[in-house]
Amino acid sequence: MLANPVIVDRSDPRFDTLKRGNNLRFPAGDAEAPDRIILCSDSAEIAGALQRVVTAGMRPTIRSGGHCYEDFVANNPHGAIIDVSLHNNVDAASPSGPYRIAAGAKLGDVYQTLYKKFNRTLPAGTCYMVGAGGHISGGGYGLLARQHGLTVDWVSALKVLTVDGHGKVVEHRVDRSHDPDLFRACLGAGGGSFGIVTDFYFEKLPAAPREVAEANLHFPWASLTADGLFRILSVYGEYWNTRGRDFATWGLAAVLTIGPRHPGNAINISLQYCNAEGNAGNGAILQEFINRFAALNPAIHEQGLKVQGVTRRPWLEATLDGSDSGDPARAKYKSTYMKMPFTRAESDTLYLYLTSKDIDAHGFVLEIDGFGGAANTPARAGDTSIVQRSSIMKLQWQCYWEDEAEDADRLKFMDDFYTRMYTGPHVPPEFQGTPFGDRYEGCYINYPDADMLRYSYWPELYYGRTGLYPFLQAVKRRYDPNNIFHSSMSIR
Ligand SMILES: Cc1cc2nc3c(=O)[nH]c(=O)nc-3n(C[C@H](O)[C@H](O)[C@H](O)COP(=O)(O)OP(=O)(O)OC[C@H]3O[C@@H](n4cnc5c(N)ncnc54)[C@H](O)[C@@H]3O)c2cc1C
Repeated sequence: MLANPVIVDRSDPRFDTLKRGNNLRFPAGDAEAPDRIILCSDSAEIAGALQRVVTAGMRPTIRSGGHCYEDFVANNPHGAIIDVSLHNNVDAASPSGPYRIAAGAKLGDVYQTLYKKFNRTLPAGTCYMVGAGGHISGGGYGLLARQHGLTVDWVSALKVLTVDGHGKVVEHRVDRSHDPDLFRACLGAGGGSFGIVTDFYFEKLPAAPREVAEANLHFPWASLTADGLFRILSVYGEYWNTRGRDFATWGLAAVLTIGPRHPGNAINISLQYCNAEGNAGNGAILQEFINRFAALNPAIHEQGLKVQGVTRRPWLEATLDGSDSGDPARAKYKSTYMKMPFTRAESDTLYLYLTSKDIDAHGFVLEIDGFGGAANTPARAGDTSIVQRSSIMKLQWQCYWEDEAEDADRLKFMDDFYTRMYTGPHVPPEFQGTPFGDRYEGCYINYPDADMLRYSYWPELYYGRTGLYPFLQAVKRRYDPNNIFHSSMSIR
C-alpha cells in the first residue's frame, strides 16, 4: 500500500498551529518557519516522507512531542518538519515483553497503557505531553529514576531510519549485536543527530508501583535570610550526598522549587516515596527526610516550615496528576548536574538574583531534583550515551514569559544569572561560567541551551571528557555522512 501521510503546507488552515511546538519562541518568524509539516502515522509513512524530503533537497527536522527547548525543530526555513506524533502505539509481543513504544507516543499515554495492559512502567519524565521520540533519545528521567535508572538504561533495541551517502533512506533495527555503535548513540546523545527513531523496544520493564506516599514542605520566602537559604540548601544537598546514597532511600524522589521572592510565596519541596516492592512502606524514609528540615525550625525563620502530608494514593493517579505541561509559552531553559552539595557562593547568588529589588527575575523557576541511586550505575556510562553517573542533584533552570518584546531581556537575565552562578573559586579557571570541574558534571542534552555554544568545550559539558563525543562523531560520519540531521547543537 502506498504510504500516505498528511501534508500541511502554508496554505492549510492548520499550518499556524502545527508549525510550532511547546516553546513559542520558535519558529522565530515567518521566514524561519518550515514550508510544510508532514504528519506520519506509521513507520512506512515516516520512511516515505523522509525519502521525499531528502530527494527534494529539503532539510528534514523531526518532531515527536514538540517539547524541544531550543530551535532545532521549528526553525527550518524552506524545510519540512516530519511529525511522527500519530505513530504512537504502545504494545508488546506478550504480557511479559518485549514491549514496544512508538516514537510519537506521549509519556502520559505510555504510563497509562503500560500500566493498564501490562502492569509495567518506565522511569521516565513527569510531563504528560512530552514525546517518547525526543525524550528517550536524550536519556529520559523522572521520579522513578533513582529506583530504576534512566529510561535509556532499559531500551534493548530500536528501529531507526538513516540516510546513506547516496541519499537513500535505510531502516536499521539496532541492538547490542546489530549496529551496536548506532544503538548506543541513540541512547542519550539527544535526538536529531543521526536519523529518525521510529520505535523503542524493551526486553523487560520495571513493575508499576501500586501506591506512593507524598508530602510537601513549604518554607516561607518572605522572612528568609541568606543564611536561612543556605541552611535549607545544605540540608537538601547533604541528604543526597550521604543518606540518599543508601539503597533503602532510592525510592525517594524530591523536587525543590524556588522562584523570585514575593510576599506570600514559598520555597517548596515535593516528595514522593515508594519502596522496591512498589508500596508506600511504613513512611519512615519520608519522615526521616522531613525531620532533617523540621530540625531547622525555628532557627531559620519565625514562620517556620509547613508540612503538608504525609498522604498515600495510587501511583498511577499521582503520576498523571503531577504531569501537567503547562500552556505553551515563550521560554528559556538551562541545566546543571551537581556532584556535591551547594557552596555558600552558589546559595548567595541564588539569594541575590531572587530577592534583589534591582534584578527582574519574573517568570523564573529553578527545580532542583534529588538524583543518583540507580541512575548512577557506573556501567551505564559505558553502554549508553549518558556519561553523567555521579551526580546527586540535577537542576533545571526555567524562565517563562508571554510577550515577544521581552525576549532579549529574559534571555539576558538567564544568561547572566547562570554565568554568575558558576563564576568564582568553586569553578576551575578554565571552566568559569559553566558547571564543570570537580563539583559538576555539566549539562543535560534534553535541556539543551544554545548559550553554551560560546564555549569551545561545549560538547564536553553535555558528553563528558571520556571519549564519548569523538565516538558520537564517528557514528555521525558513518550513518549520516551528508549531515542531513542537523541543528546548532547536533553532533558535528
Ligand atoms: C513541560 C516539560 C517537562 C519535562 N520534563 C522532563 C522530565 O521530567 N524528565 C526529562 O528527562 N525531560 C523532561 N523534559 C525535557 C524533554 O525530555 C525534552 O524536551 C525532550 O527532548 C522532548 O521530546 P519531544 O519528543 O516532546 O520533543 P521534540 O521537540 O519533538 O523533539 C526534541 C528533540 O528530539 C528530536 N526528535 C524528536 N523525535 C525524534 C525521533 N523520533 N527520532 C530522532 N530524533 C527525534 C527532535 O528533532 C529534537 O531535536 C521536559 C520538557 C518539558 C517541556
